[in-house]
Amino acid sequence: GGEYSLTSDNVDDYSSNMPLCMRTLHTGLKQDHKLKHHGRLQYGLFLKAAGMSMEESLRFFQKEFTKIMTAEKFQKEYTYNIRHMYGKEGKRTNYSAYNCNKIIMGAPPNTGEHHGCPYRHYDDDHLSSLLNKMQIGKASDRSEIMALKKKKHFTLACQKHFEVSHPKATSIPDLNLSGVGEHPNAWYAASVAYRV
Ligand code: SF4
Repeated sequence: GGEYSLTSDNVDDYSSNMPLCMRTLHTGLKQDHKLKHHGRLQYGLFLKAAGMSMEESLRFFQKEFTKIMTAEKFQKEYTYNIRHMYGKEGKRTNYSAYNCNKIIMGAPPNTGEHHGCPYRHYDDDHLSSLLNKMQIGKASDRSEIMALKKKKHFTLACQKHFEVSHPKATSIPDLNLSGVGEHPNAWYAASVAYRV
């Protein structure tokens, strides 16, 4: 993997290198101009692990949230949690990003929430229309992904998404594919390495 740094300015561009769970959070944030608690944690810790600094994270969330609220409200209600994720408040724990198992076993998203794993938490129709909308692979690739999801092989479905969107990945030396389907940050790092 190469050197890369995620910022509030380039995160839209890099969202195309994210696995479905994180793309869903990114799109949800852009659409609603906010994320609820579980979503802020899942996405915020992912961004941190992907190389976004606390300052850039604060800037990124503020830019979106203040489309529907004042900067004062954002400062008062949301900056503490972001600083907390970076270990700058409270017990100053250095929290790590969630792996796939934690996301899959975690609380399912309610209406208006965007966290979770779409392979696990979306019903067949919802996932199928999302894959179509995103134009992931060919129609036959999408059927394969859906078949894995229906058999509850959620992480294999996610690996298949990686495979069909990075068709030459296995022929690139040093591209680390081992964590794809185990950790969203491994999926992202491999996708960024594929792109550069
Ligand atoms: Fe995200 Fe993991 Fe689900 Fe893929 S399998 S969408 S990386 S939680």
